[in-house]
Amino acid sequence: MGTVVRQTLYAPDDHTADWVSAEVMELLNRLEEQELSWRLETSEICAANKTAGNGEGYLLSSDMTGVIVECMNLSKRAEGAFDITLGPVVRLWNIDGWAAGEQTGAYTMPEPSILRQALESCGYEKLELKPEVLGEKGEILQARIFLPAGMQLDLGAAGKGYALDKLRDSLKESEIGGAVISLGGSVLTYGGKPDGTDWKVGILNPLDTAEYIGILSLKGQWCVSTSGDYERYVEADGARCHHIIDPATGMPADSGVHSVTILTREGLLSDALSTACFVLGAEKGMKLAQEYGAEALFVTFEGEILMTEGMESCFSPAGH
Ligand code: AMP
Ligand code: MG
Repeated sequence: MGTVVRQTLYAPDDHTADWVSAEVMELLNRLEEQELSWRLETSEICAANKTAGNGEGYLLSSDMTGVIVECMNLSKRAEGAFDITLGPVVRLWNIDGWAAGEQTGAYTMPEPSILRQALESCGYEKLELKPEVLGEKGEILQARIFLPAGMQLDLGAAGKGYALDKLRDSLKESEIGGAVISLGGSVLTYGGKPDGTDWKVGILNPLDTAEYIGILSLKGQWCVSTSGDYERYVEADGARCHHIIDPATGMPADSGVHSVTILTREGLLSDALSTACFVLGAEKGMKLAQEYGAEALFVTFEGEILMTEGMESCFSPAGH
């Protein structure tokens, strides 16, 4: 997933801790290999991308159907600010290459005309899902996905959060009493500590990532996802280009915020919403988060911290 995994597990004994910790890494590798990666030939996303424009589409697993349905719903509610069809644009910027350390020497931004062309292949409204299996309430359990020619899916904005949901489900089957697992900017808290104290999740200062702007105190199971302009970036012509793209322009989003943190029970939602809210900016993003019943925190260009009420009630500013 191109990120650092950190685990803190409270287990009855060392053996269980070691075993579950290895299981966590195995599950993450499996998700990447079988479902999420656009690079690995073995994954569903890769297989779906290969069918772009062939008219036959690709039959998604029920898990991936769920992920894509939820992402598409968010795209609609976020007026397109979140879009998993941005693959061609993300490839042009070579965003995953920056993280893999492939970017050495001077970086040149994509040509505007080439960027415009790539954008034409993107757009969640052009993605088609044909339900194949429906649930009792008419919900889509499994669907065939049709990508128009040139479109490529990229789950970089939601995959880590989805993985947290899967990890939570697997922890429920284990003897682990409490855990904190972070995948880059997405953090899962689960269960409790033996001494009953709260989980503490730090929110980085986007202007100086050696510092925290504050700490969230949480009880039980939560997901905290942050999207920030400091997470992945390159310097081009003296300007900093970060990894969160405004689908309206194909350029790094410039909505007046350095970072957005979302707090929800569900990992997929927290991850996808943090990206959507980053693109939308504080005002519209705050509204969208509240529509979803999620808590949100924005750090603006002016260095202001804006929060929903629920976020405020668990946030302690650094130094207090
Ligand atoms: P995140 O760090 O969760 O905000 O996700 C950013 C990653 O998602 C990028 O590295 C891209 O792969 C992809 N991405 C960038 N912009 C968007 C967007 N507006 N909607 C969906 N995915 C995006
Ligand atoms: Mg995200």
